[in-house]
Amino acid sequence: MSRGLISEDIIDRIRERNDLTRIVAKYAGPLVLAGDNFQCRCPFHGCKSPSFTVCPRYQIFYCFGCEYGGGVFRFMKRLRGTSFLETVRDLGREVGIEVP
Ligand SMILES: [Zn+2]
Repeated sequence: MSRGLISEDIIDRIRERNDLTRIVAKYAGPLVLAGDNFQCRCPFHGCKSPSFTVCPRYQIFYCFGCEYGGGVFRFMKRLRGTSFLETVRDLGREVGIEVP
């Protein structure tokens, strides 16, 4: 599947190097291990309980409070309010991959 201007190969490489667990811990605060997953308070809605779950194995997240989920790009896209292309560029820059 193509996403327009950026090749899937580059998108995959950027996704692989931006570990979702590390990114969420960096921007959403401390993660608590719960079974095979990590949990924390959701950065997207004002929850008091840790309803935000990260699955490190599949590199996906899901919030049971606001029902938002996805991978590292969707997390950063929502967090920063950037487009998909800008999000890929930003994350690429952080790991030294220049997006043409
Ligand atoms: Zn939420």
